[in-house]
Formats: sequence, structure tokens, C-alpha cells
Amino acid sequence: MEARLILIKYGEITLKGLNQHYFLETLMKNIRYAIKGIEGAKVNKIQGRVTVEGVSAEDEEEVISRLKKVFGIVAIVVARECEPDMESIKAAALEVMKDKHNCTFKAEAKRGNKSFPYTSPQIAKMVGAHVLVNTDTITVDVHKPDYTLTVEVREKAYVYCDNIPCDAGLPLGTGGSGALLLSGGIDSPVAGYMMMRRGMKVCGIHFHSYPYTSLEAQKKATDLAEKLRPYNMGFTLINVPVTKIQEEIIQKCDESYLTVILRRFMFRISERICEQRGISALITGESLGQVASQTIESINCTNAVVKLPVLRPLIGHDKNDIVAISRHIDTYDISIRPFEDCCTVFVPKHPQIKPSLEKVEAQEAKLDVEALVEEALKNIEIVRIK
Ligand code: ATP
Ligand code: MG
Repeated sequence: MEARLILIKYGEITLKGLNQHYFLETLMKNIRYAIKGIEGAKVNKIQGRVTVEGVSAEDEEEVISRLKKVFGIVAIVVARECEPDMESIKAAALEVMKDKHNCTFKAEAKRGNKSFPYTSPQIAKMVGAHVLVNTDTITVDVHKPDYTLTVEVREKAYVYCDNIPCDAGLPLGTGGSGALLLSGGIDSPVAGYMMMRRGMKVCGIHFHSYPYTSLEAQKKATDLAEKLRPYNMGFTLINVPVTKIQEEIIQKCDESYLTVILRRFMFRISERICEQRGISALITGESLGQVASQTIESINCTNAVVKLPVLRPLIGHDKNDIVAISRHIDTYDISIRPFEDCCTVFVPKHPQIKPSLEKVEAQEAKLDVEALVEEALKNIEIVRIK
């Protein structure tokens, strides 16, 4: 008897040596979390793969779309599971190919079970010949086939042909935690996604200057958080008002330092939030040279106020690369909604492009930095997206 099941391929985890067990268990836990509520679905481990069994035909698409957002998965296939004997494998192969017409294929085999009496090339040859003889409009093309019919012989045998590529990376939770400075723009959600993909669980911090910035601007951040939620297995967004801080800077400091001083406040406040929550890094969407606040001199000035590492996964990326990722994670259309954020409501006419740390500190000395940070922290609002 053959059964349909979802076969999950993982990649980098296999390189983990002694830690492999921990990474694999985390991956399985995350898969179970992702498909919570799907009736009958059961997650199991087999040699070199994870399987999801018991998913009804109606739920299959939903399960696959959820699994695509689980990091650590390299590809998903819907496979036929059968007994590891040639007759069953051949029958399963025909079943897999039965709705394919007027196309080319090649057969491949992987023999994980070394006690199986045929080698991989022999299995591929026999299965390929069987399909060719028993179908009318399918032909072989070993160089550029439309489909690669694959047989994996393990304790059981698995036969499939459509490989659904996923985002790979490492299972969420294996890379510690980070606080993502989430504006409403294109870059920061992408930066968050990239760190999640390396296994880092992320919490978002959004700075706003309500009522100078609109509620729609805050909604943008919430909507972006919602898009990131499945990748991050939930999402906590912390909204921080910086209205008072901006007013003070405008009143007391040289206007050209507004941006760099505001960013130093953002970093200080974020670091304090990290301390309170046991988070070990900041993450920003900065990309070198993109705007005045992202020259190396500006970056040095903002870095100077924090001890935690600041991760900038986009630092060497071009805008086009970043836009492509934002489309992939479906945040682009939200990011381009035209609402201003706190960095754009008050823009200095001539911002300091290469600020010196001494001058920034001299400007900042006119402010009661600690009191302003404390006040902002008192007024944070926490949104939990499940
Ligand atoms: P983005 O597209 O992410 O908005 P940007 O190109 O507009 O970035 P900046 O305004 O210089 O660049 O911001 C750089 C980084 O600082 C952002 O990627 C984000 O991590 C952080 N940041 C900027 N504004 C905010 C904000 N209002 N709330 C939280 N983080 C912010
Ligand atoms: Mg921005």
C-alpha cells in the first residue's frame, strides 16, 4: 500500500556534527508549530528527512505554504511512500507521473538503505524504463527534463517529482535573539527576515512621533510585523514615542545634527529594551551609502552609544537586491505606502553627512539624554501578534 506524504529536506543542519540533534529537534518543533490546527497532520523523523503524514488533499496547499516559512527547510516534496521493493516503487512511479502529459523526464535514485539489492543507477534505469513503457506522451531527456522523477530508498521508499524550493537557513531559535529596529521602510523588514533566516528570534521596535506622524504610519509597522510573524513564530512589536525627543533636539541643537542625534536615541532606547528582555543584539536595515545617515561616519556616531553588537545584514546589498527580497516576503507593497515616519517628518535641509563624534557629543550635551530616554521607555506600547 502506498501513501501520500510530505517529505521535508533540510540542508545546513546536516553539517552540524554533534549539535545536529539539537538543530533537528528545533526544526521539528518549529514545523509542528507552523502546522498547528491542521487536522490529522503528524510530524516524524526518518533517516535524513522529516515527514508530515496524514494531511488531507484539501489541506495540502495550506500546509506547504506554511512550511515554506519555516527556516531550515531547503525543499519540500509531496511523495508517495511505498515498500522498498522494485514492484512497489515502479507502481508508485506511475502514480506520480499519471497526470503528466506531453513532457520529458529523467529518473534519479538515492539509495540510503545499502541493503537494497540494486544500486542507485540501476534503480533509476528500471524505474525510467517502466514509466516510458507504460505511458504514451512522456519521453526521456537526461539533459533538460521537464521533470526529475526521484526515488529515495530508505527504510521505506519515496517517489516524487515536483521539488518545491524553500528559503533554507537555520531553524528559528537556534541563533539567539535580536531587536529589529523596524521603520515603515523597505529595508528593515528585509533585515529582520535575513536574521530570522539565520535562526535568530526577532522582536521589533518601532519609533514614532505621533501626532506628527500619523496612525497609518504605525499601522504600516504593525502590518509589516504581521508579514514577518510566520517566519518568526509570532512577533512582538514595541512602539516607542520619540516626539518629545525630536522637539527637544529641534529646539536646542543645530538642525543639521537632528538625524544623527535622533538615531543615537533610537539605539540607546533599543539597547535598554534589550537589557530588560534579555535580547543580545540590535538589527537595522542600514545599507552603506544609501542615505546621509548611512555613511560610515554616521554609522560610527550611532554605534558609539551602545555596547551590544549591531547587526546590519544589508550593509553590502544594493537596493535592487533588497527590493527583490522584500517582494519575496511580501512586505514591499506595505513599505511603499506613502506615510511619513519619524525620520522624515523633520528633515534637516543640510544634514551632516560626515558628522564627527566630538561635535555630535557637544550638540547632545545640550539635552538631558537620560531623562529623555527614561521618559520614552515609560511610554512604550507593546503589540503581540500571535
Ligand atoms: P528603511 O527602509 O528600513 O526605513 P531607510 O533606508 O529609510 O531604512 P534610515 O531612515 O536611515 O534608512 O534608517 C536606517 C535604519 O534605522 C532602518 O533600516 C531601521 O532599522 C532604523 N530605523 C529608521 N527609522 C526607524 C523607525 N522609525 N523605527 C524603528 N527603526 C527605524
Ligand atoms: Mg526609512
